[in-house]
Amino acid sequence: PPLVEIANLTRDFRNHRFFGISQTTRALDDVTLQIDQGSIFGIVGESGSGKSTLARLMVALDRPTSGKVVFDGEDIFSLPAAALRHHRRNFQMVFQDPFGSLDPRQKVGRIIGEPLHVFASQSARGRVSERVAAMLENVGLPATAADLYPHQFSGGQRQRIAMARALITEPKLVVADEPVSALDLSVQAQILNLVLDLRDTQGVTFVFISHNLAVIDCIADKVGVMHSGRLVEVGPAHEVFDQP
Ligand code: ADP
Ligand code: ADP
Repeated sequence: PPLVEIANLTRDFRNHRFFGISQTTRALDDVTLQIDQGSIFGIVGESGSGKSTLARLMVALDRPTSGKVVFDGEDIFSLPAAALRHHRRNFQMVFQDPFGSLDPRQKVGRIIGEPLHVFASQSARGRVSERVAAMLENVGLPATAADLYPHQFSGGQRQRIAMARALITEPKLVVADEPVSALDLSVQAQILNLVLDLRDTQGVTFVFISHNLAVIDCIADKVGVMHSGRLVEVGPAHEVFDQP
């Protein structure tokens, strides 16, 4: 069975206007798709097409107006709050600007280890520093990175730190929203290789969002094309991109 099954997902935002007149934006319109375990599902689409809204719903950072997200057999929006909190370790998100999501006042080791303090059992917490060191190695950073602060790293290294933080709870799914868009081309390639490597060696399933068709073509097993909140096309990368 697929790891993620999204059915008829719709998200309306009510934008408040002056004098009580309001208007609704349908950011996501009846999206249905499935994501296979151990695959990279690429999402492309122009700005405002609903990519981020879809991404946030997949990791329960938002709630849909209607429709459902079934993750590993669980309908996540029908779970009681405590059960959803427990489930969160299984899906993590990585953002475009790791500077925005990495607390500048905390050392990298503390940033990466923090989800373990939230999720891990008491016995596992004692070994946080060991697990952080292993995770740094896993994403191609030296263990000494743990004692430095985010601003002491380049953009690509910060994206590796964000990836390490996302992976420390051993999630089944990582949703990456424009993770390479702010990086230089040569560094983009390194991060794409890291994602491919994590899929191949650890079986991590990725949703990878980009407005850049070349990036998606190079990394995705399957591609979904978003337009005006709708998923207008979905298929293997070679089929979606090799049309005349
Ligand atoms: P974004 O970059 O996603 O557009 P915003 O700054 O617009 O972020 O919103 C920040 C957060 O508040 C998001 O989680 C968004 O989903 C939520 N949010 C904003 N407006 C609304 C709304 N009208 N109804 C529900 N959630 C909202
Ligand atoms: P993309 O990631 O493809 O750029 P988004 O999912 O951010 O697209 O946005 C889709 C549509 O929903 C846009 O019209 C956007 O303005 C609107 N939207 C997104 N988040 C919010 C929000 N929190 N409040 C109001 N409107 C929103």
